[in-house]
Amino acid sequence: MTEDQKNFMREAIKLSVEKMEAGFGGPFGAVVVRNGEIIARGYNNVLATNDPTAHAEVDAIRKACQALGTFQLTDCELYTSCEPCPMCLGAIYWARPRKVYYANSKDDAAAVGFDDQFIYNEIEKDAPDRSIPMEQMMREEAQDAFKRWAGKENKQVY
Ligand SMILES: [Zn+2]
Repeated sequence: MTEDQKNFMREAIKLSVEKMEAGFGGPFGAVVVRNGEIIARGYNNVLATNDPTAHAEVDAIRKACQALGTFQLTDCELYTSCEPCPMCLGAIYWARPRKVYYANSKDDAAAVGFDDQFIYNEIEKDAPDRSIPMEQMMREEAQDAFKRWAGKENKQVY
């Protein structure tokens, strides 16, 4: 690890402490770095915004994409104070940064009450067997949008 990299992680950790102490949400912070510069700072904002998806990584990704005017973080690195939960892991794959660094592990998070193992377990199950039941309906009608997308000219694939 270079001193620069350590400083990026220190910034993510600092956000995790400061924003948690200020009552924004859980103790999680993240920064997005491009060309050796922090372009976005994110933190858990679940309590202050009543938004269950306002995790540090999602917050940082949204701000970074806004700052760069793109939906891809191809040349970026994400530093997060904790190993991402399954939701953030999904967001990271959609945003496509080239590397993720994390400090606390998901086991560390579980030890202080943020256990996301049950979500990983849910992913493995068939839809009807999940603890929040999922049931398919009206596929034929929903297919209309997919057919239009498939036939759309000059669409931006992502
Ligand atoms: Zn998350």
